[in-house]
Amino acid sequence: MKNDRWCVLIEKIKSIISEDRILHDVPMKEHTSMRVGGIVKTLILPSCKKEIVDIIKILIDMNIPYYVIGNGTNLIVSDEGYSGVVIKIADNFADINVSGDEITALSGASLAAVSNTAMLNSLSGMEFASGIPGTIGGAVAMNAGAYGCEMKDVVTETSCVDEQGNLLLLKGAEHDFTYRSSRIQKKKLIVVEVKMRLQRGEISAIKEKMRYFNTCRREKQPLELPSAGSVFKRPQGFFAGKLIEDAGLRGYRIGGAKISEKHCGFIVNTGDATAGDVIKLIEYVKERVYQCSGVILEHEVKILGG
Ligand SMILES: Cc1cc2nc3c(=O)[nH]c(=O)nc-3n(C[C@H](O)[C@H](O)[C@H](O)COP(=O)(O)OP(=O)(O)OC[C@H]3O[C@@H](n4cnc5c(N)ncnc54)[C@H](O)[C@@H]3O)c2cc1C
Repeated sequence: MKNDRWCVLIEKIKSIISEDRILHDVPMKEHTSMRVGGIVKTLILPSCKKEIVDIIKILIDMNIPYYVIGNGTNLIVSDEGYSGVVIKIADNFADINVSGDEITALSGASLAAVSNTAMLNSLSGMEFASGIPGTIGGAVAMNAGAYGCEMKDVVTETSCVDEQGNLLLLKGAEHDFTYRSSRIQKKKLIVVEVKMRLQRGEISAIKEKMRYFNTCRREKQPLELPSAGSVFKRPQGFFAGKLIEDAGLRGYRIGGAKISEKHCGFIVNTGDATAGDVIKLIEYVKERVYQCSGVILEHEVKILGG
């Protein structure tokens, strides 16, 4: 991208949000849980709905590609980085409100904070998500799930920005939730606010369920090392981790990326992994699993750039 065009872009963005929330030459390993990835020229941290809408309109107007991230916990950015603008919607945009048995959260609120707020207000239904390290916006886009529950079970309404910069409201079935996907992903919508309906429950029981799920996570998942969670979608009738283990890949490594010995569905960064190592390992696993079992694995993690 030509420099003068980028200068014009930055000047326009500066008229919308303060300079300290426009970051330049950002290493994406600092914004992703896998801790790999190259440089993004500009990363923006909007803090209100209007800023998001106005920024999108500028980017559309100038025909500059953009990508929205939350906590970067399901994301690998290539070593070459990304030549567009990254809009990070996380703790810069994260208010949570409770009204009766409804919670409304701005999309950058963490799942942990939303689950905790639900618990403190005697609301049950978000326990499954308390240990998922993403934002509520990322979770709705991905239809994140665990322990038999998914975001689709609790989300009633989502306020989004579309690819033309217009605000729109999705209700119930309009979200088109499927396994680890949604209309939001398919139509490249940006989630700005999420409404969830929960059920009344006992604080102690909700707390105990959260504690139990999080103990299970610590026992089964390699939380001590950087990762992007389960790399592959669950193929119908199989478990990705078991297929990978049966293909003899437990502990298999390429560079600094390794199939976790604790949970074969996870790729961990042993310290010096590059995005290239992780992506090569993903491809190698797909190939080996297909050779060994005939099952085609599809990656759940998103890959940006390259
Ligand atoms: C240790 C660990 C455990 C995990 N366990 C689980 C689990 O049990 N279940 C599960 O489902 N996932 C799990 N994950 C994966 C991940 O946490 C979830 O997918 C989470 O919902 C992603 O949220 P995020 O904010 O980090 O999104 P990102 O990783 O930042 O983005 C993921 C996708 O969502 C899109 N997105 C992000 N924010 C928005 C927004 N506001 N509007 C529109 N699109 C957006 C991005 O463009 C991208 O396509 C785990 C990850 C880790 C590291």
